[in-house]
Amino acid sequence: MGEVDRRKPKVVIVGAGMAGLAAARRLHVCAGDLLDVVVVEAGDRIGGRIFTSEFASARVEMGATWIHGIEGSPIYDVARKAGALIPNQRGDDGETQFPWERMDGFPSDALTLAEGGQALDPALLRRISALFSHLKSLIVSGEIAADKEIVSVGAFLRSGFESYRAANGGDWMEEAAFAMHECGEREYTAVDDLYTLDLAAEEEYMEFPGEHITLPGGYSRVPEFIAAALPPGTIRLGRSVSRVEWRLSGDHGVKLHFDNGEVELADHAIVTVSLGVLKAGINGAGGLVFSPFLPEAKRGAIERLGFGLVDKLFMEIEGGIGKVKSPFPFLRMAFDPGRHVAEIPWWMRRTDSICPIYGGSHVLLAWFVGREAAEIEKLNDDDIIHGVHATLAGFKSPAGDFGRISKLRRSSWGRNPRFLGSYSYVAVGSSGDDQDALADPVDASLQILFAGEATHRTRYATTHGAYLSGVREADRLVQYYGFQGYGS
Ligand SMILES: Cc1cc2nc3c(=O)[nH]c(=O)nc-3n(C[C@H](O)[C@H](O)[C@H](O)COP(=O)(O)OP(=O)(O)OC[C@H]3O[C@@H](n4cnc5c(N)ncnc54)[C@H](O)[C@@H]3O)c2cc1C
Repeated sequence: MGEVDRRKPKVVIVGAGMAGLAAARRLHVCAGDLLDVVVVEAGDRIGGRIFTSEFASARVEMGATWIHGIEGSPIYDVARKAGALIPNQRGDDGETQFPWERMDGFPSDALTLAEGGQALDPALLRRISALFSHLKSLIVSGEIAADKEIVSVGAFLRSGFESYRAANGGDWMEEAAFAMHECGEREYTAVDDLYTLDLAAEEEYMEFPGEHITLPGGYSRVPEFIAAALPPGTIRLGRSVSRVEWRLSGDHGVKLHFDNGEVELADHAIVTVSLGVLKAGINGAGGLVFSPFLPEAKRGAIERLGFGLVDKLFMEIEGGIGKVKSPFPFLRMAFDPGRHVAEIPWWMRRTDSICPIYGGSHVLLAWFVGREAAEIEKLNDDDIIHGVHATLAGFKSPAGDFGRISKLRRSSWGRNPRFLGSYSYVAVGSSGDDQDALADPVDASLQILFAGEATHRTRYATTHGAYLSGVREADRLVQYYGFQGYGS
């Protein structure tokens, strides 16, 4: 350790999302006041891509929504301790407990309509769903026939569908039903085009077992709970790092430059900004810049890995609470590849559902991915409402009127310079080795460490992956200084 023995080593964590907060908490527990730890956050709130909000008297999640598997999940553990699993845990401040998104779990009573309004034949739907599930199970179990030609999830799914069609025939409705499942897969993985999603890497992806749940108290309770356990003053909001200088000679090896011209010296920086922000930095498009440049292995990994865009669109049905004539169904939409209804805009055609945020709610939700999400971020409210109305008209069933949208709220993760996208994926041409390369420290003295969801080889794209990556990098420092056993 040399020089740094004379004073407390200084650690600056860049970003107060799940990874940054988990790292700060772990360092606090394991090193106490033996380290000087600060978290600098560009935004005016903590949580990053976890952001609970309110819309039309309902609690909605603009970012992370589900705990994907509760058994063994560190996020579930924190949520439980934070009281986020129980409604009305905001304390005695009189704050209203709103109904929350998917408070009734994942709905099983979907109404699947084909473009034009015809209900899809349940037997056809069952066949296509079974086919899709079978193909997915082959991907995740790695039991794919060795075919070196097929490298993407998109190509594999399509070849499975083509084989099915060759054996069974079928019309455009089968194609539309299969495409609807592909849209769901795009949502889950954040890829614009499933042909860019690496097939082999999917086998490595892991989920925790058990139920998938949403949080009655709001997802933001999780980062809030972790932040509350840090010493006062640890987190500094509104501090945007533009450049990280490293390999400096002198007392400190790292210097952080902020947007406002200020600087801060440190011995270590734990960088937790999104892969989108890192990509922008190396492409000269803003983001976070390193000088000297990061090593080639790190730069290559940043370039090759995928960072996708997923946005959520919340819509209120005119009339508000209690005035909706009949509950809006959990509507799944099978679009006609021949574009039956011309008025439906292109940016609706790869969205698989519009559904109430819980059964009977007057707030609807649709998810958008890739190009369509980028378009949703650009359009004005009136154009979106017009496009959604045209879509609903195109799916109008004999069951009747779907109602009118009066107002909306959407996320814009792509345009926000603090994120520049939603979550990472393994693109064709990259592999889990790139995620490991992203996680590797850049030098033996651990001047710059990397955490964040994109650095976790098997649990990327999730809040728990982000959390675990923060703990990993904190432990790396704890081990470096030999602090094990301090707090616990
Ligand atoms: C729409 C959507 C839905 C999702 N759904 C789920 C889900 O259901 N379940 C799930 O597990 N996960 C979900 N995720 C993914 C999950 O939210 C993320 O994987 C996780 O929150 C990422 O945490 P992180 O700490 O790695 O990054 P972030 O949350 O991005 O944190 C990084 C922080 O760095 C800050 N920052 C950026 N640039 C700078 C800078 N230059 N200087 C200082 N600070 C900076 C940012 O403001 C941010 O607060 C979803 C994400 C989105 C967008």
